[in-house]
Amino acid sequence: MPAVLNRRRFLSLAASASAASFVPRQMLGQPAVPDRIAQGRVLAAQTPITTTKLAADVYLLQGFGGNMVLQTGLEGNLLIDSSFSTSVQKVVAAISAVSKYAPHLLINTHWHYDHTDGNEGMHAAGFTILAHSKTKERLSTTQVVPFFHMTVLPDPAGSWPTITFDDSKQFNHNGDSLDLAHFEPAHTDTDIYIRFHNADVLHVGDIFFNGFYPFLDESSAGNIGGMITASEKALALAGAKTKIVPGHGPLAGKVQLQAYRDMLATVRDRVVKLKTAGASEQEAVAKKPTADLDATWGKGTFNGDVFTGLVYRTV
Ligand SMILES: [Zn+2]
Repeated sequence: MPAVLNRRRFLSLAASASAASFVPRQMLGQPAVPDRIAQGRVLAAQTPITTTKLAADVYLLQGFGGNMVLQTGLEGNLLIDSSFSTSVQKVVAAISAVSKYAPHLLINTHWHYDHTDGNEGMHAAGFTILAHSKTKERLSTTQVVPFFHMTVLPDPAGSWPTITFDDSKQFNHNGDSLDLAHFEPAHTDTDIYIRFHNADVLHVGDIFFNGFYPFLDESSAGNIGGMITASEKALALAGAKTKIVPGHGPLAGKVQLQAYRDMLATVRDRVVKLKTAGASEQEAVAKKPTADLDATWGKGTFNGDVFTGLVYRTV
């Protein structure tokens, strides 16, 4: 393996398309670390894209990377997140299967590469990219992710967002009213949500792993308190019938998001108690504070021990 790889690479910890995955970019000389980046791209290439209709002109697209949402109409196709580069052609085909309209806007929920690796291909296909200003900053500069022993080099300019915002953005598109807003640092410091008012669809990105312990990207200011606050903000935005799209996992509603928020708060409270009593991270993990939750939440990328460590370090 060369010390510096020329192409952006990905690390995917997910074992299947339904599992959560976190995918940073390029790895610098880490021969001891499995090349899960390539593995993730291979799995993405092998995973079909499924399409689920959410509303009249709004669809959920799911493959190996983060969940995508498509809105179609006369103003052009609007896509949320771009999955892996190896999925681009399949995503383009999935869009064509339900839409006769031209590419228009691609919105990134955050900077992680299981959500943005396809940016370059989608941009080449005609999409203009919109994201939080920090997503552009992180995609265009070197990122170090110690959790995965990774250094991530800047992406090619064609994959960078060219429209950015800091706090919030509202616009009409294809007859619907869209609200975009930044969460305080939660999963990362680049997280936003996208709300379609008429369609009653809310994409919240990776602040929500539906059915799994989530990843907290400490290298991007991710932290458990922010995840709880972001989940509560999303719950306040959603109505009883709102279709809530998580970054990973199946389509959800308020019931699933509330259960997830409550799990996060429970683990946070238990870990804070241990830490306040003087437990080291290792001791806190050994106490198994998530033992009764693991059967429900620990079957994704991160088990209870790993999640306890993430929580311990970010409270
Ligand atoms: Zn992520």
